[in-house]
This record gives sequence, structure tokens and C-alpha cells, in this order.
Amino acid sequence: LNLQTTRQEPSAPIGSPPSWQSDKEPRAPRAAFKPQDFKIGKLLGLGSYSKVAQATLIATGQEYALKVMDKGHIIRERKILQTKRERNILDRLGHPGVVRLCFTFQDQQSLYMGLELCPGGELFDQIKRRGKLPLESARFYAAEVVDCLEHIHSEGVIHRDLKPENLLFTADGHLKLGDFGSAIFVDEGAYITAPGDERKGSFVGTAEYVSPEMLNSKHVAASTDYWALGCLIFQMLTGVSTFKAASEYLCFQRILQRDIVWPPDMPNAAMDLIDGLLDMNPKTRLGSDPARLAALKAHPFFAGVDWSNVRGHRAPPLLP
Ligand code: ATP
Repeated sequence: LNLQTTRQEPSAPIGSPPSWQSDKEPRAPRAAFKPQDFKIGKLLGLGSYSKVAQATLIATGQEYALKVMDKGHIIRERKILQTKRERNILDRLGHPGVVRLCFTFQDQQSLYMGLELCPGGELFDQIKRRGKLPLESARFYAAEVVDCLEHIHSEGVIHRDLKPENLLFTADGHLKLGDFGSAIFVDEGAYITAPGDERKGSFVGTAEYVSPEMLNSKHVAASTDYWALGCLIFQMLTGVSTFKAASEYLCFQRILQRDIVWPPDMPNAAMDLIDGLLDMNPKTRLGSDPARLAALKAHPFFAGVDWSNVRGHRAPPLLP
């Protein structure tokens, strides 16, 4: 497998290559690895800025997901700050629901992130394969996501791109949140645009899951991830993305009009929960503050969930 990243044009000359230096000594070491230290396996995914492949560290036999980002592409697209931020954020987080960053290294051409391998693929594919998920499974995954969001928010991080493509399965079917490429630290101002976002006023994230306050260029907080959670639960239960439309513009119109088409078989508890998560007002949205987070976890949709041991239960089987 060729480790060149998605764009094939030659890299821009690198005057000062993006440094991964964070202020504190990072948890994930800057390793002295070279690409040749790995046996590269199958391609796991292609992102807009990266290529992710299964990779075995030859010396130990340990498997990783190796995310390779072309430096020239990062510089051309002005993603240097964002890339540094992704690394710093992953370094700060330590939770079983977050894809772990194990090490980083770089060479002349690329930045490399050695990520914990999630061999079960994306939640997106499980929804696609099944058409829609059984209520029990949707509840199970939603609880794991709430548990993970609670952690990242307590660390001052907002993900800003929660969607089924960014939720990955471990071998035993538990979910982990990945792709912190759009995430920010709350203390960076938590506005729609943070340093490193491409253009002032441009939206960050993915059209179908973007919250109304992000579209209105308002202050964003942790509650923006709970809006996306509402979209995610709707999609798990229906197989359809909540605000899907023929174009980004029409999608934004649907979001701003809160145009939700409820299917007749949507269970009442699920409908009520999604309704509370897709609250246009981020201040009253379920999950938006400690009291509303408690209300979210106590919601009848989550009846029977043991919040003190969310990941301790057997996960629903994955469809191959
Ligand atoms: P995007 O264009 O969505 O911003 P990106 O360039 O930031 O993408 P990622 O989303 O991090 O890249 O990774 C791209 C894809 O690679 C993921 O959707 C997933 O399918 C796969 N992938 C990423 N990390 C892992 C992992 N740790 N284990 C298995 N597969 C992974």
C-alpha cells in the first residue's frame, strides 16, 4: 500500500515543517520511528487530510491504525494549527471511549499518528448494513457516546464533528470516538471559528450534523455535540440522516427550520429524547449543563443503563 496521502501532486516546499511540539511533555511520545519500521496492511479509511492504514510495528508485532498526513497538503490548506490541535487534544484525553494516540513521528513528507486500532469499522457501516439499528443497540451505543462526551467535555474539549463515520468499533463491539481534527479546547474561545479554522464564519464539521448555533456563527459550547448526538440517535433508529438534503444549502435550511420528519414507528421515549437534544436553543438543550446532563442520563430512553459501568456490558454483535 502506498502511504502517499490522498492528493498526488508534489508537496509544497517545506520551509518550516509543521512541528508537533506541545507546551507540555505529550502523553503520546514523539517516537523515532520511520515508515519502514511498519508492515503496512489494509487501507482503513481516507479522510480529507489523511490516509489511514492498518500497520504492524515490526519490532513488537503490535498493530496500530497509522494516520498519514501530507505536510504539503496541510500547509497548502492552512491546517497547521488544526493538525497541532488534534494532536494536543488527543494527548490530553484518556478514556476508553476515545481512540488513543499511541505515538507520533514525522519525516520530510508526512506527519504520522499511531492510533489505537479499531478493527470493527465505522458505526456508519453498521447502520448501512442493517438499514437501521434495533432500539437496544441504539440505546447501548448512545450511552457509550454520552459517557465519552461527558469525559471530553470535562477535559474542556468540544468535538464539533460527532457523526457515525467518526465512531469506530473495537474488536468486541464497543464504540470509540475518533477524528478530533475539528475539535477545539473550550478555552480557545469556543467560537465557531478558532485559530486554524479556514475562514472566518465558515462552518466546521459536517453539514448534516452541524448545530444551528454553528450556522448562526454564535458561541459554541459542549451543547453543540449534544445536537449532533440527537442527529446520531435519529439516524441509528431510522437509517436516515435527520437533515439530509440534496445540497448543503438545503440541508442548512432544514436545520434552521428544525425540519424533522418523524417516522410513525419512532418509540415515544426516543422521540422525546431526540426532541430534547435537537433543541434550537443550546442553553436549554439536553446535556448542555450539569443539571441537563443529569436529565439526559435519567431520561426514560436510557432506562436500565448502568451509568457507573457503561462499558462493562457485552456489546451488541457487529454485522460482518
Ligand atoms: P475527515 O475527512 O473525516 O476529517 P480525517 O482526515 O480527519 O477525516 P479520520 O476521520 O481520522 O481522517 O480517518 C479517516 C477514516 O480512517 C475513518 O473514518 C476510519 O474509517 C478510519 N480510521 C481512522 N482512525 C482509525 C482507527 N483508529 N482504527 C480504524 N480505522 C480508523
